[in-house]
Amino acid sequence: MDLLKKRILQDGKCFEGGILKVDSFINHQMDPILMKSIGVEFVRRFANKDFNKVMTIEASGIAPAIMVGYLLELPVVFAKKKQPKTMENMISTTVRSFTKDREYNVCISKDFLTKKDRVLFIDDFLANGNAANGIIDLIDQAGAQLVGMGFIIEKAFQHGGEVLRERGIHVESLAIIDSLDNCQIKIR
Ligand code: 5GP
Repeated sequence: MDLLKKRILQDGKCFEGGILKVDSFINHQMDPILMKSIGVEFVRRFANKDFNKVMTIEASGIAPAIMVGYLLELPVVFAKKKQPKTMENMISTTVRSFTKDREYNVCISKDFLTKKDRVLFIDDFLANGNAANGIIDLIDQAGAQLVGMGFIIEKAFQHGGEVLRERGIHVESLAIIDSLDNCQIKIR
């Protein structure tokens, strides 16, 4: 997706440890016009898939996921990182955070992820695939079906994407970063 690639090269910043900062248009301040184009591109790439729900994980996956849900008029549900006191019927799993280097729990209500659901998962970044694996675990626990996973940015020098594709999962990434070595952003 050329518009996104240009924006990453223009405004993205490289950090130690292979972290790309895109907080001026995705992770903190958001560009809704770009986000709409991202939603349109996800809809195009998953056009041949049959799903009834869009799923993401808070917080940065919510904006692209809601764009997809809005365009397709489908419900969007996000896995929560803190369990609300009022959530009774829930499924949870543990995820290792790449950026924060710690483990956290994510949970989702059984009311909003059930065995009737065919799920498209959307998130901002794919790095080692820990968040994605956590989501797959939630989907499995619920007896739902995963139809595909879409990421705004995939860092191919980490290997989450490779592992997910080897498992036969339909993965689409709108911008693939081959390297951030020497603080130079190399986009495929
Ligand atoms: P993974 O679980 O695939 O290792 O990492 C994905 C999650 O970590 C994403 O949901 C994202 O929040 C965060 N993440 C991973 N790499 C980066 C990065 O380079 N920049 C930013 N801003 N977030 C990242």
